[in-house]
Amino acid sequence: MYRYVIRLTPKDQTTFGDDAKKTIFHFLFVLHCSGQILKNYHVIENEGYHLHVTTPKQDSLSEAYDSIYVKRDRTRIDELFTVSLDHCGIDLESQEYCTCQSRNAMELETFRFDVDSVFTCCDCFKPIALYELPYLEDKEDHNSILLWQDNYAAMDMLWMNCLCDRYTGNQRVNPDSALNKQGRAIAGQMSLQVGYPVYYHLACDYGKRVKAVKVNDLQIHICPECQTVMKRRVFTEEHTVDLCEACMLSYDAH
Ligand SMILES: [Zn+2]
Ligand SMILES: [Zn+2]
Repeated sequence: MYRYVIRLTPKDQTTFGDDAKKTIFHFLFVLHCSGQILKNYHVIENEGYHLHVTTPKQDSLSEAYDSIYVKRDRTRIDELFTVSLDHCGIDLESQEYCTCQSRNAMELETFRFDVDSVFTCCDCFKPIALYELPYLEDKEDHNSILLWQDNYAAMDMLWMNCLCDRYTGNQRVNPDSALNKQGRAIAGQMSLQVGYPVYYHLACDYGKRVKAVKVNDLQIHICPECQTVMKRRVFTEEHTVDLCEACMLSYDAH
């Protein structure tokens, strides 16, 4: 949502070089893994280093949200550089983020060009900053969730770039594909952590696997897992979904 430049001015000339660059790229990587910046970051060298980053919210770079890895890298960055921050404006590649005080449910969903968080609030339909959510069990940041996002984007790209083969189609649609199993495990673990449902959003092709029935003139999905008729939830005109609360799966309603 918000584009910033983090300006790093070397404290002495020895700070230019491969080690400094490695430190900078690692710092950006761990900031991304903690959810404080999105993946569309760039480093420009010009009388120091300018780190162009997009953050979910205005205060996302606050130390309060640092993972243990960010804390460690921040110390090293502060030793090497004088740090200043400039706000550039709104990054139109990214959406506005959820500010709800409490939530009833989330959906886990992404697509090829999505740079934002994979969790969408079911109350306001905005993405949720990852650092506001607990880490999955035994993790110290959100890297495993971002790896799933990368996997989904790669599969979606192959599908959209007309490699419409059985493999990529199956990975997106079949609730038990390796890709969807990985995503459903994340949704299930996160649901346990936050204490409310996290629905895993499935792609729909109305092929052999995806079925629907007519209920009061509406075409409603049948849950591919338990085979019961799903529940239609009209959140807004643009956001209407079919849900199975037992299996924590959702489809776009159409
Ligand atoms: Zn919200
Ligand atoms: Zn079900």
